[in-house]
Amino acid sequence: TEQTYDVVIVGSGGAGFSAAIEAKEAGKSVVILEKMPAVGGNTLISGAEMNVPNNWVQKKLGIKGDSPEVMAKDTIKGGDELGDKHMIKVMTENALDAAEWLRDDIKVDFLEDQLFQFGGHSYKRALIPQGHTGAEVITKFRAKAKELKIPVKLNTTATELIQDKDGKVIGVKANNKEKQEISYMGKDGVILTTGGFGSNIEMRKKYNKKMDESYMSTVTEGSTGDGIVMAEKIGADLTNMENIQTYPICNVETGVISLLADTRFDGAVLINQEGKRFVEELERRDVISNAILDQTGSYTYQLWNEDINKISKTMEAHQGEYEELLKQKLIVKADTLEEAAEFFDIDVKNLKETVKKVNKYAKDGKDKDFDHRGGLVSLEKGPYYIEKAAPSVHHTMGGLVINDKTEVLDKDGKAIDGLYAAGELTGVIHGSNRLGGNAITDIIVFGRIAGQTVGEK
Ligand code: ADP
Repeated sequence: TEQTYDVVIVGSGGAGFSAAIEAKEAGKSVVILEKMPAVGGNTLISGAEMNVPNNWVQKKLGIKGDSPEVMAKDTIKGGDELGDKHMIKVMTENALDAAEWLRDDIKVDFLEDQLFQFGGHSYKRALIPQGHTGAEVITKFRAKAKELKIPVKLNTTATELIQDKDGKVIGVKANNKEKQEISYMGKDGVILTTGGFGSNIEMRKKYNKKMDESYMSTVTEGSTGDGIVMAEKIGADLTNMENIQTYPICNVETGVISLLADTRFDGAVLINQEGKRFVEELERRDVISNAILDQTGSYTYQLWNEDINKISKTMEAHQGEYEELLKQKLIVKADTLEEAAEFFDIDVKNLKETVKKVNKYAKDGKDKDFDHRGGLVSLEKGPYYIEKAAPSVHHTMGGLVINDKTEVLDKDGKAIDGLYAAGELTGVIHGSNRLGGNAITDIIVFGRIAGQTVGEK
């Protein structure tokens, strides 16, 4: 059977919803296909913090000096110059508008007086959605899609792009739960927003042998690279495919990202089994992950105290995760350092020495060991938390090559007629390493552009 729309969108994460809403508001009939039984993809389970230079919370907090140029510089540097500079510029210049759109049109509730400074960023510039997760963003997207009467076909897996005799993409074949094949035709185009390939181990290994089954992953089951594979089959170019990011602080049993441990952005420190710090806590994710893998047992402990907890408020936001970690014996809360160290058999003497140094560096405003860019925070007062963690596969930087209209390019750099892409399945922004909080900016900015581009047809 066949169903006809103006635009077909494959994938219901942040990129897919942004594209669908923009296209619909431009007057197009649109449909979203989603292979999982629920919408949201990785956007839903992420922290969903969004880097936005010159945002309203920076103004409120009196943070000065940030700009799209500075954020572009951080992003280019963070990805070892492998990101496309023009595309990065498009992202950072459109970030504020995208955030205001989320706030004002989609009604996403961002915290009014708190920002994160993720590793590699020169300023605190990441807006935090209510609850510190993507649930806030996806819930509001879903409500908006409903209001606009955008149909979302769940349990529907796109399998193959359909082209006309001139090679123009005019639709996509999909299977539903009953294994029926349905062709979704989109006369103005198909927008691929299927996310990355972090949970496709074979595909990971194909592009980077190191990223094998020894790594767990933080991502959802649906992140299998389908959009990349479908587009490549009809001649799309790929870039940066070997660059697969691990997130340093994840559950050592399940691989799930630890959002509770976002206290790291407010002064929590990382120590090894010997009770020593070994890396700057606000370094890039790849640097921290590799440093952790080099320690005894290839894991780390994150240490913070109640004062830091009060600043970052992650305990409030992630109570469920805390309880889970307690059950798994992967976190301890104790009044004294001795008690906390004993729980994990960490070298107490070294740990006390480490904390003494941290307290001095916090007081002096200078971390003489690792030059912590956010400034260390005193750990003089308990109670203390220590959480055990290890890296797991988190984000695939590589993917399709798109231009600033989100047209998918072939190996000669020519746009493939009718085919658009946005979000994690594109490979042009993050280079060798994505900076924290840059995914949401990427997917919303380019998701919107994709929707606007097809909307103009
Ligand atoms: P992004 O951050 O780029 O928006 P997400 O991971 O949040 O990416 O969302 C991608 C969505 O696409 C997920 O919900 C995933 O289940 C869905 N998806 C992946 N492959 C397919 C496919 N072949 N057909 C339909 N949906 C897909």
